Amino acid sequence: MASKIRKRLDKTGVVCRDLVNGRSEIGSAAEAYDKRNGKELQWPLPNVHLGVSAENQEWADKRIPYLLQTPAAKRFVSLEPLLGPIDLTASPTNVFCEARTGPSDCNWEGDESELDPLPSSCEENTEYAGLCPICGSDASFGPSSSKTLLDSINQVIIGAESVGAHAGRECKIEWVRDIVRQCQAAGVKVFIKQIHLWGVNWDDRLFETPEAAKLCLGECKPKRVLVKKIDQFPEDLRIREEI
Ligand SMILES: [Zn+2]
Repeated sequence: MASKIRKRLDKTGVVCRDLVNGRSEIGSAAEAYDKRNGKELQWPLPNVHLGVSAENQEWADKRIPYLLQTPAAKRFVSLEPLLGPIDLTASPTNVFCEARTGPSDCNWEGDESELDPLPSSCEENTEYAGLCPICGSDASFGPSSSKTLLDSINQVIIGAESVGAHAGRECKIEWVRDIVRQCQAAGVKVFIKQIHLWGVNWDDRLFETPEAAKLCLGECKPKRVLVKKIDQFPEDLRIREEI
Protein backbone atom coordinates (compact mmCIF):
# COMPACT_ATOMS: atom_id res chain seq x y z
CA MET A 1 0.00 0.00 0.00
CA ALA A 2 1.28 3.43 -0.89
CA SER A 3 2.07 5.86 1.87
CA LYS A 4 1.38 9.53 1.47
CA ILE A 5 3.48 12.27 2.97
CA ARG A 6 1.52 15.39 3.57
CA LYS A 7 0.77 18.38 5.70
CA ARG A 8 4.30 19.67 6.23
CA LEU A 9 3.36 22.84 4.42
CA ASP A 10 5.86 25.14 6.08
CA LYS A 11 8.65 22.62 5.51
CA THR A 12 7.95 21.63 1.91
CA GLY A 13 11.21 23.00 0.54
CA VAL A 14 13.31 21.52 3.30
CA VAL A 15 11.66 18.09 3.11
CA CYS A 16 12.03 17.96 -0.68
CA ARG A 17 15.65 19.12 -0.66
CA ASP A 18 16.43 16.53 2.00
CA LEU A 19 14.74 13.84 -0.07
CA VAL A 20 16.84 14.85 -3.09
CA ASN A 21 19.93 14.49 -0.94
CA GLY A 22 18.71 11.23 0.55
CA ARG A 23 18.96 12.42 4.12
CA SER A 24 15.37 12.95 5.19
CA GLU A 25 13.69 11.37 8.20
CA ILE A 26 11.68 9.33 5.72
CA GLY A 27 14.82 8.21 3.92
CA SER A 28 16.60 7.33 7.18
CA ALA A 29 13.63 5.33 8.46
CA ALA A 30 13.37 3.43 5.18
CA GLU A 31 17.11 2.73 5.19
CA ALA A 32 16.99 1.41 8.78
CA TYR A 33 14.03 -0.79 7.91
CA ASP A 34 15.75 -2.22 4.83
CA LYS A 35 19.00 -2.86 6.74
CA ARG A 36 17.10 -4.79 9.37
CA ASN A 37 15.45 -6.81 6.63
CA GLY A 38 18.69 -7.34 4.72
CA LYS A 39 17.44 -5.52 1.63
CA GLU A 40 19.02 -2.83 -0.49
CA LEU A 41 17.28 0.55 -0.37
CA GLN A 42 15.63 1.39 -3.65
CA TRP A 43 15.57 5.10 -4.37
CA PRO A 44 13.16 6.78 -4.95
CA LEU A 45 11.12 4.60 -2.62
CA PRO A 46 8.79 2.66 -4.95
CA ASN A 47 5.87 2.56 -2.51
CA VAL A 48 5.92 6.25 -1.58
CA HIS A 49 3.73 8.74 -3.38
CA LEU A 50 5.04 12.22 -2.77
CA GLY A 51 2.77 15.25 -2.82
CA VAL A 52 2.31 18.87 -1.90
CA SER A 53 -0.86 20.76 -1.18
CA ALA A 54 -1.88 24.16 -2.51
CA GLU A 55 -4.99 26.21 -1.89
CA ASN A 56 -4.44 28.92 -4.50
CA GLN A 57 -2.12 30.03 -7.33
CA GLU A 58 0.48 31.55 -5.01
CA TRP A 59 1.10 28.29 -3.16
CA ALA A 60 0.86 26.15 -6.28
CA ASP A 61 3.61 28.30 -7.85
CA LYS A 62 5.76 28.02 -4.70
CA ARG A 63 5.35 24.36 -3.74
CA ILE A 64 4.89 22.37 -6.96
CA PRO A 65 8.37 23.23 -8.37
CA TYR A 66 9.94 21.65 -5.26
CA LEU A 67 7.88 18.52 -5.85
CA LEU A 68 8.96 18.37 -9.50
CA GLN A 69 12.62 18.54 -8.49
CA THR A 70 12.26 15.65 -6.04
CA PRO A 71 12.71 12.02 -7.11
CA ALA A 72 9.50 10.09 -6.47
CA ALA A 73 7.81 6.95 -7.80
CA LYS A 74 4.54 8.88 -8.13
CA ARG A 75 3.70 12.54 -7.49
CA PHE A 76 0.39 14.11 -6.52
CA VAL A 77 -0.86 17.62 -5.85
CA SER A 78 -3.65 18.09 -3.35
CA LEU A 79 -5.69 21.24 -4.00
CA GLU A 80 -7.39 21.20 -0.61
CA PRO A 81 -9.02 23.31 0.49
CA LEU A 82 -9.37 24.90 -2.94
CA LEU A 83 -9.82 28.64 -2.33
CA GLY A 84 -9.36 30.18 -5.77
CA PRO A 85 -8.81 29.49 -9.45
CA ILE A 86 -5.46 27.80 -10.22
CA ASP A 87 -3.63 27.73 -13.54
CA LEU A 88 -1.49 24.61 -13.55
CA THR A 89 -0.32 25.31 -17.09
CA ALA A 90 2.02 28.00 -15.72
CA SER A 91 5.78 27.39 -15.89
CA PRO A 92 7.46 25.89 -12.80
CA THR A 93 10.62 27.95 -13.30
CA ASN A 94 11.39 31.66 -13.50
CA VAL A 95 15.13 31.72 -14.29
CA PHE A 96 17.27 29.78 -16.74
CA CYS A 97 20.93 29.30 -17.61
CA GLU A 98 22.03 31.19 -20.71
CA ALA A 99 24.59 28.46 -21.54
CA ARG A 100 21.92 26.09 -22.80
CA THR A 101 22.72 27.00 -26.37
CA GLY A 102 26.42 27.56 -25.71
CA PRO A 103 29.46 25.28 -25.59
CA SER A 104 28.68 23.83 -22.14
CA ASP A 105 25.06 23.19 -23.17
CA CYS A 106 23.72 23.49 -19.63
CA ASN A 107 19.97 22.98 -19.39
CA TRP A 108 19.51 24.22 -15.84
CA GLU A 109 16.36 26.14 -15.01
CA GLY A 110 14.81 26.86 -11.63
CA ASP A 111 13.81 29.47 -9.11
CA GLU A 112 15.77 32.68 -8.66
CA SER A 113 16.39 31.78 -5.00
CA GLU A 114 18.70 28.97 -6.21
CA LEU A 115 21.01 31.30 -8.16
CA ASP A 116 24.51 32.17 -7.09
CA PRO A 117 24.98 35.94 -6.82
CA LEU A 118 26.67 37.88 -9.57
CA PRO A 119 30.20 39.07 -8.77
CA SER A 120 29.93 42.46 -7.05
CA SER A 121 31.65 44.19 -10.00
CA CYS A 122 28.74 43.11 -12.25
CA GLU A 123 25.88 43.94 -9.91
CA GLU A 124 25.09 47.23 -11.58
CA ASN A 125 24.10 47.65 -15.20
CA THR A 126 23.46 43.97 -15.85
CA GLU A 127 20.36 42.32 -17.19
CA TYR A 128 21.25 38.96 -15.63
CA ALA A 129 19.46 37.56 -12.59
CA GLY A 130 22.52 35.82 -11.17
CA LEU A 131 24.81 32.89 -11.92
CA CYS A 132 23.74 29.34 -12.76
CA PRO A 133 24.30 27.11 -9.68
CA ILE A 134 25.43 24.23 -11.97
CA CYS A 135 27.85 25.74 -14.48
CA GLY A 136 28.35 29.32 -13.25
CA SER A 137 27.19 30.95 -16.50
CA ASP A 138 24.90 33.98 -16.53
CA ALA A 139 21.25 33.21 -15.79
CA SER A 140 18.28 35.25 -17.02
CA PHE A 141 14.70 35.72 -15.91
CA GLY A 142 12.01 33.84 -17.81
CA PRO A 143 10.82 30.30 -18.41
CA SER A 144 13.26 28.43 -20.63
CA SER A 145 11.05 25.57 -21.72
CA SER A 146 7.43 24.76 -22.34
CA LYS A 147 7.19 22.67 -19.15
CA THR A 148 4.14 23.26 -16.97
CA LEU A 149 3.37 22.67 -13.30
CA LEU A 150 1.58 19.48 -14.38
CA ASP A 151 4.62 17.87 -16.03
CA SER A 152 5.57 14.72 -14.08
CA ILE A 153 2.48 14.98 -11.84
CA ASN A 154 0.45 11.74 -11.74
CA GLN A 155 -2.65 12.88 -9.88
CA VAL A 156 -4.41 16.06 -8.78
CA ILE A 157 -6.80 15.83 -5.82
CA ILE A 158 -9.45 18.53 -5.48
CA GLY A 159 -11.46 19.26 -2.36
CA ALA A 160 -13.66 22.13 -1.22
CA GLU A 161 -13.22 23.27 2.38
CA SER A 162 -15.30 21.67 5.10
CA VAL A 163 -15.90 22.83 8.65
CA GLY A 164 -17.31 19.78 10.37
CA ALA A 165 -20.23 18.64 8.24
CA HIS A 166 -20.64 22.09 6.69
CA ALA A 167 -19.17 24.03 3.80
CA GLY A 168 -16.20 26.23 4.68
CA ARG A 169 -14.79 29.08 2.61
CA GLU A 170 -16.22 29.24 -0.90
CA CYS A 171 -15.03 26.89 -3.63
CA LYS A 172 -16.64 27.76 -6.97
CA ILE A 173 -17.60 24.90 -9.20
CA GLU A 174 -16.10 26.78 -12.18
CA TRP A 175 -12.64 26.59 -10.51
CA VAL A 176 -13.02 22.83 -10.10
CA ARG A 177 -14.18 22.36 -13.67
CA ASP A 178 -11.31 24.45 -15.06
CA ILE A 179 -8.68 22.45 -13.13
CA VAL A 180 -10.24 19.19 -14.32
CA ARG A 181 -10.01 20.44 -17.91
CA GLN A 182 -6.32 21.33 -17.48
CA CYS A 183 -5.53 17.92 -15.98
CA GLN A 184 -7.41 15.99 -18.62
CA ALA A 185 -5.64 17.94 -21.39
CA ALA A 186 -2.30 16.99 -19.79
CA GLY A 187 -3.25 13.34 -19.18
CA VAL A 188 -3.11 13.76 -15.38
CA LYS A 189 -5.51 11.75 -13.21
CA VAL A 190 -8.08 13.63 -11.12
CA PHE A 191 -9.71 12.73 -7.83
CA ILE A 192 -12.54 15.03 -6.72
CA LYS A 193 -13.09 14.44 -3.03
CA GLN A 194 -15.77 16.98 -2.12
CA ILE A 195 -17.38 20.08 -3.58
CA HIS A 196 -19.73 22.93 -2.69
CA LEU A 197 -23.19 23.20 -4.23
CA TRP A 198 -26.18 25.40 -3.39
CA GLY A 199 -29.51 24.37 -1.93
CA VAL A 200 -31.59 24.38 1.21
CA ASN A 201 -30.47 21.05 2.64
CA TRP A 202 -27.80 18.59 1.58
CA ASP A 203 -30.38 15.91 0.69
CA ASP A 204 -32.62 18.25 -1.34
CA ARG A 205 -32.01 19.38 -4.87
CA LEU A 206 -28.61 21.01 -5.26
CA PHE A 207 -27.40 23.59 -7.77
CA GLU A 208 -24.07 24.96 -8.97
CA THR A 209 -24.83 28.60 -8.14
CA PRO A 210 -27.15 30.45 -5.71
CA GLU A 211 -28.84 32.08 -8.72
CA ALA A 212 -29.70 28.69 -10.22
CA ALA A 213 -31.03 27.48 -6.87
CA LYS A 214 -33.29 30.55 -6.46
CA LEU A 215 -34.52 30.28 -10.01
CA CYS A 216 -35.58 26.69 -9.53
CA LEU A 217 -36.62 26.59 -5.89
CA GLY A 218 -38.45 29.91 -5.88
CA GLU A 219 -38.76 31.81 -2.59
CA CYS A 220 -35.87 30.55 -0.49
CA LYS A 221 -32.47 31.57 0.79
CA PRO A 222 -30.09 28.98 -0.67
CA LYS A 223 -26.93 28.23 1.28
CA ARG A 224 -23.61 26.66 0.35
CA VAL A 225 -23.69 22.93 1.02
CA LEU A 226 -20.77 20.52 1.43
CA VAL A 227 -21.24 17.56 -0.91
CA LYS A 228 -19.16 14.40 -0.49
CA LYS A 229 -21.35 11.86 -2.27
CA ILE A 230 -20.14 11.47 -5.83
CA ASP A 231 -23.62 10.71 -7.18
CA GLN A 232 -24.70 14.21 -6.07
CA PHE A 233 -21.86 15.84 -8.08
CA PRO A 234 -22.62 17.37 -11.51
CA GLU A 235 -22.30 14.50 -13.97
CA ASP A 236 -19.10 15.74 -15.64
CA LEU A 237 -17.36 16.03 -12.25
CA ARG A 238 -17.96 12.48 -11.03
CA ILE A 239 -14.26 11.69 -11.30
CA ARG A 240 -12.23 9.70 -8.80
CA GLU A 241 -9.21 8.31 -10.62
CA GLU A 242 -6.61 6.48 -8.54
CA ILE A 243 -2.89 6.08 -9.16
ZN1 LIG B 1 24.27 26.43 -16.33
